[in-house]
Amino acid sequence: MSGRISTVKTVGQLRKRVGGWRAAGETVALVPTMGALHEGHLSLVRLAKRRAARAAVSIFVNPTQFAPNEDFAAYPRDTARDRKLLAALGTDLVFAPSGDHMYPDGFSTQVEVGDVSEGLCGASRPHHFGGVATVVTKLLLQCLPDIAIFGEKDYQQLMVIKRMVRDLDIPVKVIGGPIVREADGLALSSRNAYLSAAERATAPRFQQTLAECAKRLSVGEDSKAALRRGRAALRRAGFALDYLELRNAQTLAPISGKVSEPARVFGAVILGRTRLIDNVAVPRRR
Ligand code: AMP
Repeated sequence: MSGRISTVKTVGQLRKRVGGWRAAGETVALVPTMGALHEGHLSLVRLAKRRAARAAVSIFVNPTQFAPNEDFAAYPRDTARDRKLLAALGTDLVFAPSGDHMYPDGFSTQVEVGDVSEGLCGASRPHHFGGVATVVTKLLLQCLPDIAIFGEKDYQQLMVIKRMVRDLDIPVKVIGGPIVREADGLALSSRNAYLSAAERATAPRFQQTLAECAKRLSVGEDSKAALRRGRAALRRAGFALDYLELRNAQTLAPISGKVSEPARVFGAVILGRTRLIDNVAVPRRR
């Protein structure tokens, strides 16, 4: 496939392109990203290509979902490389707006989603999901796709967006794509680039611990005991623990006792200066 890809930077240009497709009766899928693309992102683009006639990808490192002490400035950016990867997949359009275009002077609107935004990452990053919900609302209204695709890597984010789209009657179908992992189990993330060689060697223990915990829960271990054991294993492996929790896979409500509903184990840890998040489904008992 050609190494060239069409890139637009303004909402007007985006609407013109997408409007043309829709007028021709073609369906459109949008994959929102912050760039520094890896196989996890690319799997979502392939899903978009399968589910719609046209696939658009947005690349925007959204300042409002980072707290002042977080890594907005250091976040990896390589749009030229991203565009090559997207062109190779036959992506139809890249939307790469500037910060000023997304947030002009005087911008003062915020979308807040209750319930599923609370707890987990919402507890340790209190402004994060407000920033995510606001920018995703803007992207959805700017593009007006039929389908929007998000990764289960950020499972709470996926649930926040599903709830927001439902609550605000945004006319888009939200689809989740499965987590893409390295061979050793580490979930692909743009932030893995921050890990030193020693940290990278430790990092797979995170997912392994979540998977062990999920397996114990699936054979009937009490959640309190399984989580206690998991937290201790993470600390022993060298992670600073943010949280390790068991939640209902749809509502994200906490689960206590034995698992009898669709459930996932959610974790966030800090390794050196890098915050890692991951989640694993509790296998259903046969
Ligand atoms: P980001 O660029 O980190 O904002 O991610 C853009 C989209 O890619 C989000 O919907 C993420 O959930 C998704 N994503 C990131 N990493 C992965 C992964 N390892 N597997 C599947 N999806 C991912």
